[in-house]
Amino acid sequence: MQTNFTTAQLADPHVAESEKILRKCVHCGFCTATCPTYVTLGNELDSPRGRIYLIKDMLENSRPADKEIVTHIDRCLSCLACMTTCPSGVNYMHLVDHARVHIEKTYRRPLMNRFTRGVLAAVLPYPTRFRAALKLARLGRPFAGAFDKIAALKPFAAMLRLAPASVPAASAMASPGSHAAKGTKLGRVAILTGCAQPVLEPGINEATVSLLNRLGIEVVVPRGEGCCGALVHHMGREGAALDQARQNVDAWMREIEQDGLDAIVITASGCGTTIKDYGFMLRLDPAYAEKAARVSALAKDVTEYLATLDLPEPQRKPGLTVAYHSACSMQHGQKITRQPKELLTRAGFVVKEPREGHLCCGSAGTYNIMQPEISARLRDRKVKNIEATGAALVATGNIGCITQIASAANIPVVHTVKLLDWAYGGEKPAELPAMTLQAAE
Ligand code: SF4
Ligand code: SF4
Repeated sequence: MQTNFTTAQLADPHVAESEKILRKCVHCGFCTATCPTYVTLGNELDSPRGRIYLIKDMLENSRPADKEIVTHIDRCLSCLACMTTCPSGVNYMHLVDHARVHIEKTYRRPLMNRFTRGVLAAVLPYPTRFRAALKLARLGRPFAGAFDKIAALKPFAAMLRLAPASVPAASAMASPGSHAAKGTKLGRVAILTGCAQPVLEPGINEATVSLLNRLGIEVVVPRGEGCCGALVHHMGREGAALDQARQNVDAWMREIEQDGLDAIVITASGCGTTIKDYGFMLRLDPAYAEKAARVSALAKDVTEYLATLDLPEPQRKPGLTVAYHSACSMQHGQKITRQPKELLTRAGFVVKEPREGHLCCGSAGTYNIMQPEISARLRDRKVKNIEATGAALVATGNIGCITQIASAANIPVVHTVKLLDWAYGGEKPAELPAMTLQAAE
């Protein structure tokens, strides 16, 4: 695509990067067919190609964002299906990230929209605040229907509906410390505790630590770790996102320099996509660029890391049929497609892949709160495809997808690592009803 930026505009490294991305796009439109918002709404401006034109026009003219561009960029899920489809290697992720920062700097959103985004940014990344908010949400749930009647309050109705009926107790495993390998020590990794996941489902990291320890891997929870920054990053709040990234880089670098790390294991693929991008996000910060690149290179989804280990025979053969839902951040963001399915199959599960597996479930960070209608349409389409497989349960590797799919599915939705931990001798996931297990031969 031809671009018309001035030399002065290109002196800004963010603009220069976006210009490089824009020039790769050849307008072919292949990406439109796999874009969930285009498939759902049928509007070219809600397709990757349409959004690319809008961003190009805004940046080339150094224009402040307007209502039209904000509407269509806000509807983008950042699912990155377009990047998987694009034959020209257009890095839509970095382009839309830049557009969101520009929007945040130049557009004044309506009051309630600003308030809702402010609440999400102030609460979700902090486990203590998030836990308190979920407890409050239980009390507010009867008002969800009333909130639905007022457009500006719809995100609050969505929040109330998504809040779980009960909040699990905090896990001791989320506290800083080290969990020793059982038997001969074969490796040492850090685990990201994260923000929302340990509050909603502490059992995911508990299963991960337990499984890795039994496989001979020491797992450390470094002091100073926090939210990966994805939530505010996707809101265009770059300062806050980079601060959170730097805090994590510092926490992991201390471990790397003290006792060494083989990997930084991440159990939420949404966080994995962001941490693997720290090297890019902090490339212009001379104090952090190199350290961030080192951290990104060590970041591994738990299934990606498990696939590098010499696994024993599973202790149980569950023999259950599992519909594997590949989170967008897993398949499009991190290009991890093979390992979770292979690990589940090896562990004795029968893996089915739902139709339209490339389409987002509508969770997408805070999308299911900020865009509840589109999100619900995508969720229902996803659940229909999952249930058509006839599987007894769903396996997936991202807490957002678990919450979203479980809100409409009639079968349990379980994190992949909890199923693997069970098969390799750990506890049965509490989500599963009573099931007879076959002993491994
Ligand atoms: S990230 Fe997803 S929703 Fe956004 S333009 Fe690409 S395919 Fe469409
Ligand atoms: S598929 Fe790639 S090159 Fe084609 S329109 Fe989409 S982003 Fe541009």
